[in-house]
Amino acid sequence: MCLLIGVTAAFDEEEDRCYLSRLYVDAVVRAGGVPVVLPPLPFEMAATVLDQMRGLLLSGGGDLDPAYFGEEPLSGTGKVSPRRDVFELALARAALIRQVPVLGICRGMQVLNVAAGGTVYQDLVLGVKQPLKHFQEAPRWYGTHHIEIHPGTKLAGIFNVSRLRVNSFHHQAVHRVAPGFRVSAVAPDGVIEAIEAGAHPFGVGVQFHPEGMWEKESVFLGLFTALVAAAGGKRRPLEKW
Ligand code: MN
Repeated sequence: MCLLIGVTAAFDEEEDRCYLSRLYVDAVVRAGGVPVVLPPLPFEMAATVLDQMRGLLLSGGGDLDPAYFGEEPLSGTGKVSPRRDVFELALARAALIRQVPVLGICRGMQVLNVAAGGTVYQDLVLGVKQPLKHFQEAPRWYGTHHIEIHPGTKLAGIFNVSRLRVNSFHHQAVHRVAPGFRVSAVAPDGVIEAIEAGAHPFGVGVQFHPEGMWEKESVFLGLFTALVAAAGGKRRPLEKW
């Protein structure tokens, strides 16, 4: 069976160029899926394109335009790609409504949360007193801070541990968790490190970068195999989100 997993590409507005790290592609392949790299397309195409996929991976990258969660930009907001924002938000909404398995990584987790009605701290320092170093200078494959995984969550089922050391390359964090989602992991400073959708076969967001770690620590491949396994399951009927 050929399980097509759409993987969103980043878009550099200045260089006019789409790109995606090899690490996402190889993780999906190793997990048994066939990655299809999706450039930012007109948002009206999102649902049609998603219908050809069995799963969706929202990759990491820059910041969402805070207008999408009803805020003016604060000085902490970084690089924004309007084309990427509009397409990924449409894809995320379609995946939630159409019950298509979706994994959001880093920025992808923020996209899932905002698509479902949640908000984001434009910069960690705005919401967290004495935050840990969440933008590590250690190599990508190296875990630098712990997360506590909440028991009974999908994430706990995937990793089978309650505490895990993860890498960290973010300056933003989920603020208000979207209706229908729950927190499945937090860092010791209280920063939300994973969320998941309740009434959905597989709607998982993680703040860390498992694609950067699985080659050295195979436990992190579990997120991709869980996505592909869910993608291989029966499609559920449309649901109101
Ligand atoms: Mn972190």
